[in-house]
This record gives sequence, structure tokens and C-alpha cells, in this order.
Amino acid sequence: MLHESCFICGAELAYSSESKPMKCAICGKELESNAECINSHFVCDVCHQAQGVEFIENVCLNSAEKDPYMLANLIMKHKSIKPHGPEHHFLVPAVLLTTYYNFIGESEKIKPSLAKAKKRSANVLGGFCGFYGTCGAGMGNGIFLSIVLNSSPLSGEEYSLVNMITGKTLLRIAEAGGPRCCKRNTFIAIECAIEFLIEKFNIELPLSQIACNFSFANKECKYSECRYFV
Ligand SMILES: [Zn+2]
Ligand SMILES: [Zn+2]
Repeated sequence: MLHESCFICGAELAYSSESKPMKCAICGKELESNAECINSHFVCDVCHQAQGVEFIENVCLNSAEKDPYMLANLIMKHKSIKPHGPEHHFLVPAVLLTTYYNFIGESEKIKPSLAKAKKRSANVLGGFCGFYGTCGAGMGNGIFLSIVLNSSPLSGEEYSLVNMITGKTLLRIAEAGGPRCCKRNTFIAIECAIEFLIEKFNIELPLSQIACNFSFANKECKYSECRYFV
């Protein structure tokens, strides 16, 4: 099944009568197809139909993106990523690990890091924000940094850093106020992670101006009270 417009760029899809080999813009596989957008993007059926966590991993494994907002925004447009849901708990560390390793030129670390992040984030269930006082998107920053620093409960300085990044992120999420919004908290987490990497490691990932394209899907959206609302 194909979307009417291109998932990657939103342009119209063009159909040709003859199929030809095309490379999926998400998973990179070459397949025969007769539909691509006018900018030559093709997305395979497996990627169109993938579910949340699996889809996030597919995109990240084949992405050269260095800007975490650009990557998060692309992923969040997919139909399997709900307006709110625990897949955001994987989305945050996945996007940060991918862009961070692409940026520092160590892309080979993305695959094993995503596997760790997937396992760890699976323990962070939906509703953690309101029921446990710990937003899962905010915890995503701790998962991200703990994998980068290879920290454990026995670490010294790394122990401090991974708890500090989560603490700073949760504070910012708290200050933004409820009701919960997984888009807003994902954006806050990305901004906090970028600031933390600059402050502690002098690494500055590129970051586009964040603008939320999802308020239409959120019936509790705070609209102009949210700093990402456009
Ligand atoms: Zn396109
Ligand atoms: Zn694909």
C-alpha cells in the first residue's frame, strides 16, 4: 500500500507502467517498484507497514542525518508513531545515538547502540510521566548518554553525568507543565541533550529551529502556550 504523497518530502507520487529497481529511502533495500515521488523517493512496503519501534530502528540504521530534530520529525510523521505513546521512549535515545555517531564519524557504533537502547527503553512503560513522575522521553536522554559513556551502576564520573542529564531534562519538562505531550517532551529532551553535549563535551550537534507539526493530532494541545506551537 502506498501513501498518496511522498513520506520523505510530501511531494506527489508518480506511477510508471513499467517497474524498475528502486532503493528504499528508509531501509536502503533495492526492490522493483513502479511508484516514486517526483523527487525520486521510494519507500518500500515493509517500511510503510512497520510498527513503531521497528520503524524507528529501520530509519536510524540507514540515516546519515546529524540534526536530531530533522530525524525525529521525519520519524514522527509515520503512521505507526502515535500522537502519544511509549515508542517515544525509544525514539529519543535512537535519534540522539544516530545523529551523535554520524556527527563524530563513528557510524559503525549506531547498530549495537540502538540494540541496547531498544532493550533499555522497553522497560519504560507508557504513562511513566504522570504515574511515576519520570517522563520516558526525558529518561531517553539518560539511556542515550549511558550508552555513549558505557556507564553502569558502578561508574564514577559517568554515573554522575547520566543522572545529571536526565535530571536537567525532567526539570525542563516539569517547568513546561502538563497535560502530557510526547512531542513537546521529545523536543525538550533533544534541546537538553544538545545543551548538555556542548557544556560537558564541547560537541555541538546541528539543530534546526524546532516547530511542532503535530498539534492537529493532540486533543490536549496547549497551542500558543507551548513554545513549539506554530
Ligand atoms: Zn519525495
Ligand atoms: Zn524500506
